[in-house]
Amino acid sequence: MRPQCDHTDLYPEGYQGFEQGPIRPPSEAYSLLIRVTRNCPWNYCTFCPIYKGTRFSLRPVDHVKQDIDMVHKFVELLRNLVDASGRISRKEIYNVSENTDVSERPALQAAIHWFSGGMRSIFIQDANSLIQILRKRLSEKDKTINGFNVGMNSGESAGQTIFHSHIHLIPRRTGDTPNPRGGVRGVIPDKMDY
Ligand code: SF4
Repeated sequence: MRPQCDHTDLYPEGYQGFEQGPIRPPSEAYSLLIRVTRNCPWNYCTFCPIYKGTRFSLRPVDHVKQDIDMVHKFVELLRNLVDASGRISRKEIYNVSENTDVSERPALQAAIHWFSGGMRSIFIQDANSLIQILRKRLSEKDKTINGFNVGMNSGESAGQTIFHSHIHLIPRRTGDTPNPRGGVRGVIPDKMDY
């Protein structure tokens, strides 16, 4: 039986401080990870133990903003510690850590990691799970929806017009097109019917 994602109690508690999920993709080795959801809304892959026994939840926007503000605070602090050679001594880092409340140290660690990696990229962690929420809300609102296409346009040649990362979730209904076979392959009409 297909498991269902239970979206009740999505915001279980108040702000718990800066958070990062357990998986850092290799491509994001030096990125700042900003966590927007917790755990896995599916959690049924037999080979994957990572989120077993945990519950999927959203992080409220306000909590995510507090994370960002806290990292920003520490990045500014680190900037002021850079010496003439462009470095920060271990002793300075140690002193900052010692003078930082334990509850804020995860944000400090994230700031140090990002700062030392050149602050080139930010990864919105597990944001892809948000699509599950939207899928469920749309399905509940409109019972004629019985399928979805999911797609990303990357680059002008692929039809991208808004140049930030986003995912299209397109509700589908039986009969909304004469021959739906091939789905997203239809972006190149000759490739759709196969
Ligand atoms: S995190 Fe990925 S691999 Fe693990 S249970 Fe969820 S969907 Fe499956």
